[in-house]
Amino acid sequence: MSFFKKGDAPFVIAGPCSAETREQVMETAAAIAGIPEVKLFRAGVWKPRTRPGSFEGKGTEALSWLQDVKHTYRLPVAVEVAEPAHVEQALQHGTEVLWIGARTTVNPFQVQRIADALKGVTIPVMVKNPVNPDVELWQGAIERLERSGITDIAAIHRGFSSYDTASVYRNQPNWPIPIELKRRKPELFIICDPSHISGNRDRVAEVAQRAMDMGFNGLMIESHPHPDKALSDAAQQMTPDALRELLSELIVRRQYTEDMSMATELEYLRQLMDGIDAEMIDLLARRMELSERMGLVKKSCNMTAYQPDRWREIVETRSKQGGVKMLSEEFILSLYEKIHDESIRKQVEILRDTRKEVKK
Ligand code: PEP
Ligand code: MN
Repeated sequence: MSFFKKGDAPFVIAGPCSAETREQVMETAAAIAGIPEVKLFRAGVWKPRTRPGSFEGKGTEALSWLQDVKHTYRLPVAVEVAEPAHVEQALQHGTEVLWIGARTTVNPFQVQRIADALKGVTIPVMVKNPVNPDVELWQGAIERLERSGITDIAAIHRGFSSYDTASVYRNQPNWPIPIELKRRKPELFIICDPSHISGNRDRVAEVAQRAMDMGFNGLMIESHPHPDKALSDAAQQMTPDALRELLSELIVRRQYTEDMSMATELEYLRQLMDGIDAEMIDLLARRMELSERMGLVKKSCNMTAYQPDRWREIVETRSKQGGVKMLSEEFILSLYEKIHDESIRKQVEILRDTRKEVKK
């Protein structure tokens, strides 16, 4: 049976970024254990800090504090492991769940070492996304664990690094990436970590709600009794009281509805949408046919397939037309990039093909 249970309520994992002292761990657990949605206590024991010299965690000593949480509050505990030695220590201390951090998921050698250390062990493991937006690496790390015989796996979406200093997020959510992972592995249990995406406690609720709207199965949220005094990730941790309030205000969405009239309405709208999609595909095919004819003309007068002025004109006019219809400029641009790329690809094929000539 799986530790990660899908249900109407989100599966919530909460606890401090780092276990700092026995008192801090126990104080947090005492407050968090009473929140009904919280099913698992988290705390970092070995902290992968980006720069040397910052707090690197209390190590093995802190594992016994977590055992006190487990025994006192009957709350299972999870820690991050980044080395086979961490796995060994965590297992020796009876830690119930392990997770692999974002800085480890990027490295297949390291993930493999951890997977090897887990051979023959039955334990739930959570895999954070890699720091870079690469779904393959994320899936690869999960598969390495599967090959080691780990069956109880969850993915954690914690956002992706970027050099965009103007962004409101600490780590970019790039929502299509976790959705793509879910498309590839439909049965996968997927958790959102709005704390590391936000980097700021004021934005955690909004990101958590977005995850619920998109059908995530759970949330991992950092909580500290005195967040401003936290030794790591101070800006994004929230008090257990704030966490309780956030969870009580969360609107939880379901995949299905039992309300027959709403289900019928949805089905009707889907039918309409199917019709529009069929028309769109037909229009795209007609547009590509025109592209091919243009390719033949360009070939006969030795012109390039890509014409920068024409592309600029397309972007400008289509964005304006889209704007009138309330379609965002960003959406129109990314859509036309795809369409235009395909059109250019087809034209280049024609320019290179010595058999096709323009029909006059
Ligand atoms: C953490 O959970 O505290 C942590 C270090 O996370 P990440 O691997 O997502 O950076
Ligand atoms: Mn953290």
